[in-house]
Amino acid sequence: MAENNKWQSLVAHCKEYGFIFQSSEIYDGLQAVYDYGPWGVELKKNIREYWWKTMVYQNQNIIGIDASIFMHPTTWKASGHVDSFSDPLIDNLDSNKRYRVDHLIEGHADSIREAGDADKAQALLDEMEVLEKEENLSGLKDLIVSNDIKCAVSETCNWTDVRQFNLMFGTQVGSVAEDSTEIYLRPETAQGIFVNFLNVQKTSRQKIPFGIAQTGKAFRNEIVARQFIFRMREFEQMEMQFFVRPGTQKEWYEHWKEKRNQWHQDLGIPAEKSRFHDHVKLAHYADAACDIEYDFPFGFKEVEGIHSRTDFDLKQHQEFSKKKQQYFDNDIDPETNKPYGNYIPYVIETSIGLDRTVLMVLSEAYEEEDLSTEEKKDSRKVLRIPAKLAPIKVAILPLIKKKGLPEKAKELLAELQDEFNCFYEEKNAIGKRYRIQDALGTPFCVTVDFDTLEDDTVTIRHRDSMEQERIPMSEVKTLVKKALK
Ligand code: ATP
Repeated sequence: MAENNKWQSLVAHCKEYGFIFQSSEIYDGLQAVYDYGPWGVELKKNIREYWWKTMVYQNQNIIGIDASIFMHPTTWKASGHVDSFSDPLIDNLDSNKRYRVDHLIEGHADSIREAGDADKAQALLDEMEVLEKEENLSGLKDLIVSNDIKCAVSETCNWTDVRQFNLMFGTQVGSVAEDSTEIYLRPETAQGIFVNFLNVQKTSRQKIPFGIAQTGKAFRNEIVARQFIFRMREFEQMEMQFFVRPGTQKEWYEHWKEKRNQWHQDLGIPAEKSRFHDHVKLAHYADAACDIEYDFPFGFKEVEGIHSRTDFDLKQHQEFSKKKQQYFDNDIDPETNKPYGNYIPYVIETSIGLDRTVLMVLSEAYEEEDLSTEEKKDSRKVLRIPAKLAPIKVAILPLIKKKGLPEKAKELLAELQDEFNCFYEEKNAIGKRYRIQDALGTPFCVTVDFDTLEDDTVTIRHRDSMEQERIPMSEVKTLVKKALK
């Protein structure tokens, strides 16, 4: 299937099968905001829990927190977000359409690449990155004009100057506007970790190197929000800040690059569909940074960022709060034979978007499989979601809804539902019920039939191979459990 068609079908599938809906759809929707339906919320929860398990439970030196969305406004002055969390944008004077400059240029580079000139496309992107790094706004405009990049709506080159646009949402705390204070909805979860650094370090008695993890909502007033849940104004992040001794950050940066890359592979992402993209333009706080990109149906795009943030954040919070953000390291420095002593730790950050991970897993899983034979045309929609992430683990299906089969099937349901999210359905022909479960990504369907009443065996059907086998009902739990590892 062409990638563009696949993308359209996947988006339609997410709605039709209850994964993702446009927010406030009955009011014609709110742009770049989405709601998760019954199966989307399960998939999202499973991915979040898998991240937490692999990050927190499987690393004795990483602990979790849950900081608030609202933070003291000075946090965002200290972090640099008030001054520099912005994107360059440009407006077309004929259509009044607003673009993020990098998106406009990237889109043009894509069309050059599609026309067969990959070198020219790359040269354009390289030039853009250099100008971005220099924060050369007039240079970016010249680049757009000299490449004759047009607005998709007006098809003209009549552009405003390039300006910076802050992405933070502001709101008021307090009941009346006069005595209220302006605060921001957090644009990243990371700062909630930094401001809690000493609280957590002291109470958890962790020694450097150690990490603090959290998952939660973040908000950005994205100028151009597109591509479904890829770029939203309200989204969820899963972040971990790893605090290290100054001078060791390069090796820890490499360590986390490797670990996170492995995590993506463990989600079932094939190596050729995942790649690193090293940043040329480093954020104000970073001394090294890269993204892990996935090959979405609309091309390679960022899913996770890994950043070596130096001691920037803690140093800034120390300065703005006037509270020391130091750590006393009593390990012995072999060069001086004395403890390393007091310092502000350096930080390696791993920051992944939960919604983008949902989209990556769905993109990888979605398939329209042709099952036609010479006699008959047939196809199915299947989500090959790894069993550990699947919204429903087992569907329990009595062959017909009478003669004791529902009662028997409910015995199995009662046994399994303590451990797994199960789905029970009596209606429809069995083949149709299988196809619905394929479309929801359910790895196993268990059919209870008349033989079950005689010998306590059931038919278990495997989603990916569509193979069926007869096993004792008492073995279903173990079989499913094994598949979730
Ligand atoms: P982009 O360049 O795509 O805007 P970013 O580099 O600004 O992303 P980070 O600040 O590094 O993103 O945030 C870490 C992660 O949070 C990203 O890798 C992405 O998965 C997720 N993320 C960021 N912005 C959004 C958004 N608007 N919608 C959904 N997820 C997002």
